[in-house]
Amino acid sequence: MIQYSLHCSKGHQYDAWFKNAAAFDEQQARGIVTCAVCGDAGIEKALMAPAVARTDNERVSLSSAQPDAVQLRALLRAYRQKVISEADYVGDKFAEEARKIHFEEVEARGIYGEATRDDVIALAEDGVDFMPLPDLPEEHN
Ligand SMILES: [Zn+2]
Repeated sequence: MIQYSLHCSKGHQYDAWFKNAAAFDEQQARGIVTCAVCGDAGIEKALMAPAVARTDNERVSLSSAQPDAVQLRALLRAYRQKVISEADYVGDKFAEEARKIHFEEVEARGIYGEATRDDVIALAEDGVDFMPLPDLPEEHN
């Protein structure tokens, strides 16, 4: 038996036992390994459980939980709130409007909205000042 830490595409994490590594690969390939929480079939191995990690040289990137992370998320959330409450929502016209403001064709004002990846590249090339609007999951209290 081998224990794997699994996570689904929605970020749920749980442990599950399989007969061996091949059994997991085979069941995953058939799409019958599903999330214990939400039933999602987009399952991936997280890291090897300590009991079997000794025999595996696979390295994973880890970081201890940063005490600042909570504070930083709160700041980003406050920033997002501020933008949404004070700026004009322009929908998918963000690139167009940002460019007008940049070239002073219209009065300067705060805006937010959506743009395609190509728009973002073009805006950066034009020297338009903008930044990503942080998209954060709601706080789990
Ligand atoms: Zn899930």
